Amino acid sequence: MAVIDRIAEFHPEMTEWRRDFHAHPEIGFEEVRTSGIVAEKLESWGIEVHRGFGKTGIMGVIHGRPGNRKIGLRADMDALPMPEFNDHLPYRSTYENRMHACGHDGHTTMLLGAARYLAETRNFSGTVHLIFQPAEEGLTGAAEMLRDGLFEKFPCDQVYGIHNAWDLPLGTAAIRPGTVLAAVDYFTITVKGRSSHAAQPHRGLDPLPCAVQIYGALQNLVSRRMDPHDTVVLSIGMFHAGTSQIVIPETVTMSGTIRTLKPATRKAMDELFHQTVQGLCAAHGVELILDYKRSYPPTINTAEEASAFEAAARDVVGDDLIKTDLPSLTAGEDFAYYLEKAPGAFMLLGQVTDTHKAVPVHNGHYDFNDELLPIGASCFARLVEQQLSGV
Ligand SMILES: [Zn+2]
Ligand SMILES: [Zn+2]
Repeated sequence: MAVIDRIAEFHPEMTEWRRDFHAHPEIGFEEVRTSGIVAEKLESWGIEVHRGFGKTGIMGVIHGRPGNRKIGLRADMDALPMPEFNDHLPYRSTYENRMHACGHDGHTTMLLGAARYLAETRNFSGTVHLIFQPAEEGLTGAAEMLRDGLFEKFPCDQVYGIHNAWDLPLGTAAIRPGTVLAAVDYFTITVKGRSSHAAQPHRGLDPLPCAVQIYGALQNLVSRRMDPHDTVVLSIGMFHAGTSQIVIPETVTMSGTIRTLKPATRKAMDELFHQTVQGLCAAHGVELILDYKRSYPPTINTAEEASAFEAAARDVVGDDLIKTDLPSLTAGEDFAYYLEKAPGAFMLLGQVTDTHKAVPVHNGHYDFNDELLPIGASCFARLVEQQLSGV
């Protein structure tokens, strides 16, 4: 591992920042304390700061030697609305039902580390735009940054982001061109019948038989209608009906998500989904109330930028830890919105060691590995020095 010496020097400080963020997690668009600390640190290193961008986001600007090229580096700052179970950690969450269970505390710290180094050394020609965005977890904070004019006010020729990989060995850099993460869509189906006494179902209109058929039919869309070589996930995570064993409920509500990798597959699933749900409700004579939300687009790395990020990572982690064959994941990322507007790449960095075991993100036992901090910061910093080299 060849992390940048200067960054290694302030690794202990980065660890402190990360643990402070971890102890004080804030969910999407509530990152007031977090973004305040980010802004103060950037300013203390002489970096130009714009507060309140994308609601609770922060933009930082570092000028190097004269030059026209501009790079965007992004970190997400939000936590999740869930309890933390890491009672053994002295820096465990001090807020009830708030937890940094996706490692965004680490992402924020890695970008701060890179920013400090780049502001000290300014060994590049052009401009670095630091994007500290809010609300990555399902609330599309990236889209909010774009609505506030991110790329108009802070143009970027290239944009880059890093996410920790909870299941890859420490320092493994998974980077390649093409689709790396899935498109994310959400749905909530409410089937409305007419409530009645359970002993006299014919006096009402039971919504359950229709709802159960919808559940099965939606699973069949994936297994019977889509190409088995094409990745599609349809999961229903909520299914609610009834309050008593002797009452036919008035409504059934189910809610879930669809993950696809290709625009054509996404469109086909959208159409088949609507056709199936509408058709079954019509057949049962029940009313349908449907909320179908197209959320994150797929995350698609551009070729040139993926190889630029790979080269920077190779410099830091060495040849053996570069992984260019990671299959596309069915998780989604709102970094995808930036990639719809600018060329760029999203890299996963592994964090597993003998002492820091693999624990999935979004799990109450998860923790970011502080050993990854100087590695991620060095990858960002090297990327800037390589891409904005020259006078
Ligand atoms: Zn997450
Ligand atoms: Zn995340």
